[in-house]
Amino acid sequence: NSKEYPYAASVYIGRFQPFHNGHLNSIKSALQKSHRLILVLGGAYLSPSIRGPWSIEERIQMIKTCLTKQQLNRIDFVYVRDRLYCEQLWIQNVKGEVAKLIDTNLPIAIIGHEKDSSSYYLKVFPQWFFLETGNFKGINATDIRKAYFLSENLKSAYDKTPKPISNWLKNYRKKNAFKIIKEKYNYIQKMLSNTKLNMNNDVFNVFIICNNYVLLLKSKQTLRKHLFSMPEIEELNQNDPKNSILSEIIFKNSSIKLNFELLNHRIFDYSGRYPIGVQKSNTFYFKLNHENLPVVLPGKNSEHVEWILLDDIHLLENQIYSDHFQIMSWFLNTT
Ligand code: NAD
Repeated sequence: NSKEYPYAASVYIGRFQPFHNGHLNSIKSALQKSHRLILVLGGAYLSPSIRGPWSIEERIQMIKTCLTKQQLNRIDFVYVRDRLYCEQLWIQNVKGEVAKLIDTNLPIAIIGHEKDSSSYYLKVFPQWFFLETGNFKGINATDIRKAYFLSENLKSAYDKTPKPISNWLKNYRKKNAFKIIKEKYNYIQKMLSNTKLNMNNDVFNVFIICNNYVLLLKSKQTLRKHLFSMPEIEELNQNDPKNSILSEIIFKNSSIKLNFELLNHRIFDYSGRYPIGVQKSNTFYFKLNHENLPVVLPGKNSEHVEWILLDDIHLLENQIYSDHFQIMSWFLNTT
């Protein structure tokens, strides 16, 4: 009965990687103030990473185990793809999902905690009342993930999550997916302990299309391993992309003349795109003018390379490294 509550619905946006006691506390407080709760899970379809190891399905399953039947009856779960290079579209998507569930003329609140500058998004929905939850016991999902994957002070990490979540996490350690993320954490730790390392090393990415196919590879590099990515290099000679990317991709018939036409380029700088320091991507979008697809082989830094039909890359979205899917989508929609 909407009369009992000041708000018809509260919107609660989060990654919930993993869902912890602070999140649970916010859900309970939202249910005291609103008739319904719309839980918006962010980062849908992103590939597993140290910022987001768990898929949408896993996260929804985890959250549901912490709530009673009565609570669940009042909660809707929705999920939204990040639009890292098109903020307006993300805002529209969130509002669109909410509008599917509730009459937007009714009073709606957005609930959350302004923990740092990354919480700016709580203020981009001026038509919704903002309800600040406050910080619950200083719990932080980044610290929980770090402790969990590096096996540092595990008990304290588990204690910050509801019991069903800690049980779920304990089981998850047996899975191969756990080992893959753990390897990435170990790599990052090693990199961070190397004080001589330049943390802010930008890279060049090369988005190559030919006859409606895109050239993607699987790198041997720890962070990109097991995932599809665009070729990534330290230096690019714009006039000679073919030879610039030899460490990643080799064209089998090295003598063929390839015509790379530069269609567009842009620097992509989403702060969460790389887990060590700041790494911007200077991406060049080339069209390869060639009658048939040139045969490609992996270079020394990659283990697999493939021409993938452009119309099919969305099917691989959750297997594409970091923001590379978002970068390719940005080019495809702007050219
Ligand atoms: P999160 O899971 O870290 O946090 C969810 C909410 O819980 C936040 O309001 C946070 O401040 C709050 N919280 C965390 N710890 C708390 C504690 N101890 N006590 C009380 N509250 C606590 O999620 P997030 O990263 O803030 O989620 C935002 C989502 O929105 C992300 O998935 C992000 O990608 C997405 N997003 C996307 C875009 C875009 O694509 N353009 C823009 C903005 C946000």
